[in-house]
Amino acid sequence: TDLALIRNFSIIAHIDHGKSTLADRLIQRTGGLTEREMSAQVLDNMDIEKERGITIKAQTVRLNYTAKDGLTYELNLMDTPGHVDFAYEVSRSLAACEGALLVVDAAQGVEAQTLANVYQSIEHDHEIVPVINKIDLPAAEPEKVRTEIEDIIGIDASDAVMASAKSGIGIDEVLEAIVTKIPPPKGERDQPLKAMLVDSWYDPYLGVVILVRVIDGVIKKGLQVKFMQGGTEHLIDRVGAFTPKRVDLPELGPGEIGFITAQIKEVEQAKVGDTVTTVKNGATQALPGYKEVQPVVFCGLFPVDANDFEKLRESIGKLRLNDASFSFEMESSAALGFGFRCGFLGLLHLEIIQERLSREYDLDLITTAPSVVYRLSMTDGTIKELHNPADMPDPVKIAEMEEPWIKATIYTPDEYLGSILKLCQDRRGIQIDLTYIGGRAQVTYELPLNEVVFDFYDRLKSISRGYASFDYEQIGLREGDLVMMNILVNNEPVDALSMIVHRSQAEARGRGLVERLKELIPRHMFKVPIQAAIGAKVIARETISAMRKDVTAKCYGGDISRKKKLLDKQKEGKKRMREYGNVSIPQEAFIAALRMG
Ligand code: GDP
Ligand code: MG
Repeated sequence: TDLALIRNFSIIAHIDHGKSTLADRLIQRTGGLTEREMSAQVLDNMDIEKERGITIKAQTVRLNYTAKDGLTYELNLMDTPGHVDFAYEVSRSLAACEGALLVVDAAQGVEAQTLANVYQSIEHDHEIVPVINKIDLPAAEPEKVRTEIEDIIGIDASDAVMASAKSGIGIDEVLEAIVTKIPPPKGERDQPLKAMLVDSWYDPYLGVVILVRVIDGVIKKGLQVKFMQGGTEHLIDRVGAFTPKRVDLPELGPGEIGFITAQIKEVEQAKVGDTVTTVKNGATQALPGYKEVQPVVFCGLFPVDANDFEKLRESIGKLRLNDASFSFEMESSAALGFGFRCGFLGLLHLEIIQERLSREYDLDLITTAPSVVYRLSMTDGTIKELHNPADMPDPVKIAEMEEPWIKATIYTPDEYLGSILKLCQDRRGIQIDLTYIGGRAQVTYELPLNEVVFDFYDRLKSISRGYASFDYEQIGLREGDLVMMNILVNNEPVDALSMIVHRSQAEARGRGLVERLKELIPRHMFKVPIQAAIGAKVIARETISAMRKDVTAKCYGGDISRKKKLLDKQKEGKKRMREYGNVSIPQEAFIAALRMG
């Protein structure tokens, strides 16, 4: 395709502002699918994505649009993941485009997440086309939003497109704006091949499918290519695009976005950001911006029923086929038996994997407290990375302990600001900036990631009635006075509940946990002490009183074999219970305890 006829763009929008609806409209209008083939929302194709309204895996569609100038353009619409956990994937998708549609809800206005994405888009030198969506709503204030876009983001919104993706208003205007405002890509056909690996996923029929943006040169079937960062070589066996139906194409030229397959078995071999070139006469220099993504949040996943371990192993393996960014290794816990220590890009990523395991693979799981990666400088001069509180070395051998910090941007109606500042303050936050823009506040805090992986996001949402939005980036490691806190039930440490906390938070968190556990663990025939301790020092204690005698007599009376039978039955029915020092802890107790952190 002639470069002048190509437009590559993405859509930036806060969740629910109408990105998917608009994308569907664009596909419908350009005839990529027949009416019947248009399922509710084409771009978000996973259940979890649909339910949560977020895009996890980027999808890209090619649309052919005949513009008012009579020419037919190739529009490549790239959908980007809508969550901060996938910031790197977003950055690569943006790097593959020349422009972006900025969709803002006419009734809600600009949100923090939108801001972060817009700034990224601006950093990639994108031409940004503002689209004010949902103008059909009675609460719509398009003129106010137009001013907001100019005041807050600082881009010209004088010719923003007024649209209602739902009612189909302004769709032609959006398409014309894409063609007239977004610049065509640049590239040289006779230069050595350079294509950026934008995304990859596993398809049961095709193997690993790789989404590429060709920068220079041409990619076609039969070419022997190499991945410059990964170092592997592959024979291209298919080249094509999604319209959104998959169509094979003879080639992808400079400026084009499409897919290739090359009989690759694992997504791990096709790393986002890598450069694809030819083995013969290839490029000598890889594209800039490549980064190896590392998991930042770790937790243990254990089957509730020990018999499900093999099933868990298999299911995790299958998920991993499609997601090279999460890691796992076998782990055994005194309390929970065999399971896996898994690493994730962030909390949402963790939740997605957990949810898919229970939903798609029908597994009942216990998740241990999420932990960030700590860096330990040992007294012997070595450096250790700690992914699991259970591996915490003897504190006397640790010279210094560092924890990851983030810079968080919170955007909120100002009535909730007071509670939000308090929340950040309670979580060891350092306020960096606070600005007001028309009844809303934007506040920037530096926070230890460790304080955010627990229930920060849930708390933020609840104190702001869902109105506050939150976005973050990692800013590196800082020294912290961190200690290992153990939870003892009936004097037995429950390894799954141990966590690393800041010394100043230990007592409050320990108290919260033991109080919660007291409510959640059923009574036994004996008194059950629940303690939080740092080393030998108990910092919080609660006691569950014993059951009354007459009740226990009914339950546990009779001869030994009868008692055993009863107990066996109980075990069958209460698979979800775990035993610690003769104490049964229901799985709900774990989950609830861990949720609050
Ligand atoms: P996304 O999260 O940005 O992808 O948002 P969606 O496209 O999923 O839209 C979120 C919700 O807003 C859905 O219930 C849509 O039906 C609704 N919606 C999208 N566009 C419009 C619009 O123009 N007008 C109205 N009234 N609702 C819309
Ligand atoms: Mg969506």
